[in-house]
Amino acid sequence: MQLKIIVDNKSAVEGFTPAWGFACMVGEDLLFDTGESTAVLFNNLAQAGMQPEALKMVAVSHGDGDHTGGLIGLVERNPEIQVVLHTKFPPDLITHLRRCGANLTLTDGFTELSPGIHVTGPYPTREQALVIESKAGLVVVTGCAHPDPVSILENIRNNMAGPMELVFGGFHLGGQTEAETLKTIESFRRLGIERVGAGHCTGEKAIQLFRKEYGEDFLDIGAGWSIEI
Ligand SMILES: [Zn+2]
Ligand SMILES: [Zn+2]
Repeated sequence: MQLKIIVDNKSAVEGFTPAWGFACMVGEDLLFDTGESTAVLFNNLAQAGMQPEALKMVAVSHGDGDHTGGLIGLVERNPEIQVVLHTKFPPDLITHLRRCGANLTLTDGFTELSPGIHVTGPYPTREQALVIESKAGLVVVTGCAHPDPVSILENIRNNMAGPMELVFGGFHLGGQTEAETLKTIESFRRLGIERVGAGHCTGEKAIQLFRKEYGEDFLDIGAGWSIEI
C-alpha cells in the first residue's frame, strides 16, 4: 500500500503547493485530513494523479482549520464520500456537515475503517491518529498531535499489538525547549519507534533534533512524498 502526503507546510516534490496544514492519502481511496483549503487539496491531489470524486472515505484528526479546511469543498464535490470525525469535534462543524447531508461517522475510540486501517478516536488528546497494520509493524500518521505526540503514541501502544515501525505527520513541538524535545525523542525510542518523519507543525528546531537523533531512520517528508508499506 502507498501512503502519499498531499498537503504539508513544505513541498517535497515539484508541482505540489506547500501550505500550512496536513493531508495524506492512504492507498487509492482514503484521505486522512484535508489541509487548510479546498484549492490546495484539489491541486495537490491532481498532482498525485488522484480525483476527489474517486475517494471513498475521509478521516480527520481534529477540528483545526489547517486539517478541516478542504473538507466541505470535498464533500460538495463528492457527496457520497464517507466522513469520519470523532465525538470531540466542534459541534458547529458536525451540524454543518449533517445539514449538507454528509455520510458522517463519529468515532469515540479505536475504530477499524477498513481491514488493517484504524483511527484512535479522540482520547486522550481530542485528536485521532491513523494506524495502519503493515508487514513490518504499525505505521502511525498524526495530524497536529496536540498537545504532544507521546500520549497519542502511548495510547496506541496500550491498545494495539506489534512493533511501531514508522510514525510521521505533525508533532507540534514548537513550544518545547531543546531538553524537552530530546525527552520526547527518548520517549519515541522507548516506545520502540524505528523510523520517524516529522513535518507540518513540528517546528524547525525539533525537526533538526529528530533528524540528528534518528540519522538515516529520519524521513524527510513534505507534500508529494510517498512511501510503500
Ligand atoms: Zn491542530
Ligand atoms: Zn495542524
